[in-house]
Amino acid sequence: MTKKELVFLGPPASGKGTQTSRLSKELNFPHVDTGSLLRKAIADGTEDGKTAKSYIEKGALVPVEIVASIIKTRLKEQDCANGFILDGFPRSTEQAEMLEKMLEEIDAGKEVDFKVIYFDIPQDLLLNRIIYRRSCSKCGKIYNLQSLKPQKDGVCDDCGSELTQRKDDTEEIAKSRFETYFKETAPLIDFYDKKGSLVKLDANGDVNEVWERLLAVVK
Ligand code: AMP
Repeated sequence: MTKKELVFLGPPASGKGTQTSRLSKELNFPHVDTGSLLRKAIADGTEDGKTAKSYIEKGALVPVEIVASIIKTRLKEQDCANGFILDGFPRSTEQAEMLEKMLEEIDAGKEVDFKVIYFDIPQDLLLNRIIYRRSCSKCGKIYNLQSLKPQKDGVCDDCGSELTQRKDDTEEIAKSRFETYFKETAPLIDFYDKKGSLVKLDANGDVNEVWERLLAVVK
């Protein structure tokens, strides 16, 4: 059986988190999301979490050693053996090269289908999406106070827990996150295009429209 490795690339708030959580259920592959893994490390009070916090609060990239070690441990776990959905990693050419090395080791002898799906979306939509974004403090489901409201204010439709705003979803930090994205991450579009792994997805539209487009490229 061919192992399916789906890597997601795109600017902050391009809709990757919403679509990849749904895709993880649809394909039954784990959703490995560095942002969430780092926020968990912060909440758990680990040493890595303490270091990561100061970078996240500035909208900068967390040092590569921390992120790479978290990702390598996660991708080696048994539930990733037939495939995974990687969201938020790699975020720089250095990280992409590290991922290549990691996967050479993890996938030795396996047949692999590796794709990078790039969420292509006009930048002017993104800042508002960030400012109005809320997520469930328990299950992580993502809402938007303008376009994807919960049925009851402040409460998750799925699990009834409280909705919260990420600390880095302020206008000021979001601007730094965009700068970091364009400087460090956007060069990966070309990097993966040259390798023949890139699939460009039109990520402009409502959640269900983008979902249908995504299914058409991953199935
Ligand atoms: P996200 O949830 O993907 O928006 O990520 C939130 C923050 O976590 C980013 O702004 C970075 O500070 C940090 N982060 C997430 N993924 C990475 C990564 N691959 N490398 C370095 N920092 C990361």
